[in-house]
Amino acid sequence: MTERKSSLPRRPRPADNAFKGEKIRGGVNEPTYGGALSFMRRFYARDAKGADLAIWGVPFDAATSNRPGSRFGPQAIRRASAILEGDPQYPFGFDPFASLTAVDVGDCALDYGLVGNAPREIERQAKEILDTGATLVTLGGDHSVTYPLLKAHVAKHGPLALVQFDAHQDTWHPEEGRIDHGSFVARAVLEGLIDPKHSIQVGIRTHAPATHGIEMVDGNSIETLGPAGVAKRILKRVGKRKAYLSFDIDALDPAFAPGTGTPVAGGMSSREALLVLRALAPANFVGFDVMEVAPPYDHADITALAAAHIAMHFICLVAMRMGAKPRPVR
Ligand code: MN
Ligand code: MN
Repeated sequence: MTERKSSLPRRPRPADNAFKGEKIRGGVNEPTYGGALSFMRRFYARDAKGADLAIWGVPFDAATSNRPGSRFGPQAIRRASAILEGDPQYPFGFDPFASLTAVDVGDCALDYGLVGNAPREIERQAKEILDTGATLVTLGGDHSVTYPLLKAHVAKHGPLALVQFDAHQDTWHPEEGRIDHGSFVARAVLEGLIDPKHSIQVGIRTHAPATHGIEMVDGNSIETLGPAGVAKRILKRVGKRKAYLSFDIDALDPAFAPGTGTPVAGGMSSREALLVLRALAPANFVGFDVMEVAPPYDHADITALAAAHIAMHFICLVAMRMGAKPRPVR
């Protein structure tokens, strides 16, 4: 019998890069259906010291007004991100981890029986991560989580310009002692965490009593302005100021993000949203989050996939700031 040349690889594909990988930089080639699910197969690390970027989950949804479930968001987004593990990322044309060192620092530890302590605890743990010097990308969790995240970032950077993608303004009156995913923006303005004159909300298609002077690109304007026009409005509003980017997944149409607590029809497609994000490289973002992914209402991981792509875009924007050269737009 003549020897047969096998087309199969001699060794099995590697698994569990999050724990067993040898190089912190670069992509991996791990089966998407198994292995330890860190975000984009990055190493797990107890702290982010020495890393350029940290990915962190905050599985908290006790401030949800309607349908809870976003506590399962970080797990689902990590699982969906396995498909984005190693190749050059579209449309950037580079592997962000060729230059950027990024680690997954796991999830925020919270006591479900002490809901009132959650914001303080999230802020404290976020500060610990930021103290290492890493840029933080947070996976939510309901949108109340962005308030303590803003506090942690503002403690380091001073007041920030907020760029918020959302179907909702989240400007409902923040009553003392309440934790509510619909009022974090009002709280942030009233406490001077964000500068409303340089903040902007994109994709809004509900009415709330107050704008607090924040510029708004509502849901229908996405169609008239187009993604390039929307990006231009954002860049003009924030200028070169330090900014924070918060993406409530319900900014997308329920066709592209059914798995969320408060879906609203008439939203952006994932393509439109990603086109806007891709064009935001000139902005000076110091922090990012993607919130409100609620897997119990998801189908075929549509929503988690959208969130994973959004977080990947955040990471590529950071890589570009650190010198990665994107492929020209074709
Ligand atoms: Mn929101
Ligand atoms: Mn919303």
